[in-house]
Amino acid sequence: MRNLLDLTLYELENELNPKFRAKQIYEWIYKKYANSFDDMTNLPKDMREKLSRNFHFEPLKCVRSETSSDKSIKYLFEAIDGSRIESVLLPMKEELTHEDGGIKRHARYTICVSSQVGCRMGCSFCLTAKGGLTRNLTPGEIVGQILWIKKANNIPYERRINIVYMGMGEPLDNLENVAKAVQILKENDGLAIAPRRQTISTSGLASQIKKLGEKNLGVLLAISLHATTDELRTKLMPINKAYNIEAVMQAVREFPVDMRKRVLFEYLVIKGLNDSIKDAKTLVKLLHGIKAKVNLIYFNPHEGSEYTRPDTKTMVEFQDYMSAHGVSCTIRQSKGLDISAACGQLKERSKEDGYERT
Ligand code: SAH
Ligand code: SF4
Repeated sequence: MRNLLDLTLYELENELNPKFRAKQIYEWIYKKYANSFDDMTNLPKDMREKLSRNFHFEPLKCVRSETSSDKSIKYLFEAIDGSRIESVLLPMKEELTHEDGGIKRHARYTICVSSQVGCRMGCSFCLTAKGGLTRNLTPGEIVGQILWIKKANNIPYERRINIVYMGMGEPLDNLENVAKAVQILKENDGLAIAPRRQTISTSGLASQIKKLGEKNLGVLLAISLHATTDELRTKLMPINKAYNIEAVMQAVREFPVDMRKRVLFEYLVIKGLNDSIKDAKTLVKLLHGIKAKVNLIYFNPHEGSEYTRPDTKTMVEFQDYMSAHGVSCTIRQSKGLDISAACGQLKERSKEDGYERT
């Protein structure tokens, strides 16, 4: 059985006769949230039967979900081979002003997806790093996380969704599958999530950033920088030995960026390590000449971690310094802390946890 979610519309068209059936199937799956080929009533019965013998479109089962007090929901999925990954739905409220001046609230969502089962980058502050890499996710398993979450929450197909590749794994260590997922997600007859609403976050694999740029997908780039000196960055992120700060910055400078957008720099703030005004000053210098936006992230502690979360005063001072020196800078309001769904708290859970497939 093949996973239909692995196929772009073009690929599906090439599998079918007549081709136009592919669009209908895409709509059934991604817009009408069909549960089986039998639901696809405008397809001939023999075609439905043939499809169900060859394809499935449920690559993941949800094993568990947890809702945080801030309304974010963490999902634990199990793939067909038993691998487990996590994804997070982050509801964001947005106020829209209508032409008549009235204000209407609209639900807006960000979905944080995993790109690998585990990760081999070994960052010292990250829980996902602990178990190493098990395997890459397929394009259909990446798409499947989003489809499942939209479906389970009855999110209408046309509602705007932002995707961040900030769950488990290093997306650029699985570039081909991630790039294909971006293509499938953007399909107009499918989920129709424009690439400019998809942010790929990387620990800084410079050569892969270059390859991603060459693909010209139109996605946004986020760099997990976290340190302003190579000495500290190497301690936090071993990948810095292969690609140091200058190599990463050079790759960013060459990355094609949408005129209206900027490259996001994530800066994990750890108490006493990288939180001084001196660091802020060096960061401003590093970003000179780059259309950048900085997102400060509180270090989220997890069991066994040696680092400490900074206090709010330190974060705000750091942010103020950046803003005063012309760098757009926000502090990430980490969601899902109480359910361990916050940044760096996602981890493959072993089956011994005793959760059953549902
Ligand atoms: N591998 C990619 C994407 C997944 S990690 C990357 O590293 O960019 C997503 C973000 O969570 C990264 O910025 C990562 O540095 C951050 N993160 C990891 N561990 C964290 C922790 N304990 N507290 C807060 N953020 C963390
Ligand atoms: Fe991998 Fe990102 Fe965690 Fe580093 S921070 S170990 S790159 S998931």
